[in-house]
Amino acid sequence: MHARDFLMIPGPTPVPDAVLEACARHPIGHRTRELSEALKAVVIDLKWLGDTKSDAIVLTSSGTGAMEAAIANTVNAGDKVLSLVCGVFGQRWAKIAEAYGAAVERITVEPGQCIDPEVVRTKLQENKDKPFKAVTITHNETSTGVMNDLKTIAALCKDHGALSIVDAVTSFGAVAISIDNWGVDILVTGSQKALMNPPGLAFIFMGERAWQANKECRTPRFYFDLAKYKKSLDDDTTPFTPNVSLIMGMQASMKLIRDAGKEDVFRRHQELQKLLRSNLKAMGLELFAQDNIASPTITSILPPAGVSVADIRKGLKERFRIFVADGQEALVGKIFRIGHMGNVFERDILMTVSALKAVLGDLGYKSK
Ligand SMILES: *Cc1c(COP(=O)(O)O)cnc(C)c1O
Repeated sequence: MHARDFLMIPGPTPVPDAVLEACARHPIGHRTRELSEALKAVVIDLKWLGDTKSDAIVLTSSGTGAMEAAIANTVNAGDKVLSLVCGVFGQRWAKIAEAYGAAVERITVEPGQCIDPEVVRTKLQENKDKPFKAVTITHNETSTGVMNDLKTIAALCKDHGALSIVDAVTSFGAVAISIDNWGVDILVTGSQKALMNPPGLAFIFMGERAWQANKECRTPRFYFDLAKYKKSLDDDTTPFTPNVSLIMGMQASMKLIRDAGKEDVFRRHQELQKLLRSNLKAMGLELFAQDNIASPTITSILPPAGVSVADIRKGLKERFRIFVADGQEALVGKIFRIGHMGNVFERDILMTVSALKAVLGDLGYKSK
């Protein structure tokens, strides 16, 4: 017998009991009034959370499916797309756009850095005679643990006349985002991060300019044809069978966020980030991202000299049943990542810090 597994990875994240219970009910028919009511409630709550009048479309897919839908519904082959890349997820946008034949240009920064809006401004300026159709942005780069200045970048896109297409998978629900005030055209998120559900649903907000682009988009699509979803949404339903269990789960998790108050939820994420970072620094550990650009939901840490990431992760798993993530791609073995979004509280941070201290001790590292 051992302690319950505890996820401190950047998704999937721990799921609250109320959400698990909602998901565990027998699936109901997807054309029932009850499911329509639940879907409607989820859509209203998502729009409230994103501070927007944009349509909130519910897709049964992982987050990447919604990213692909965003491109396939607005970008034509040959269109110029600017991708802002500060890690694996920023790169994913560029690859998706390339897969659909877009002419992709990238602004790429070193891992651990964020996108400098001034560099974006210059790039857009240089292209003002032949403007970009869209700019892809990763609000919170999960692979490195930095957050970009979405508000400023979205405003630059608007001035340029480009659609802003945003991955907010690890920021939406943890950080205040005002889709309409910031002029974000398309924003994508998923169920399994700050929204505290199991993986399986993705959400895509589509504003007016996005629908305009959709009308002019000839890219082939079928399951992810968002115009179908918009039409169904008018009748509080979906074109195909959705993951009904997760729609019930989302209804429960959004109620938790409403009951807590979204400002409180955002504040908690800020506080947990500070608490974790200050404790890690006090242990003498080096953090991968500078404080001023550090993610409120994921913290990346360099292993101390002579200690491997693999051993740290193994120790946390075997001794404490706590799971943390490795780096991704070029950062495998170079950093480890602790996720702290959604159903995560002060106790969880302190527990993870203590466990990490003990494991580093086992590995011969003396914490300060
Ligand atoms: C988790 C995540 C996604 C979505 O990944 P899926 O595995 O497709 O759900 C997309 N972007 C970011 C930044 C993420 O952290």
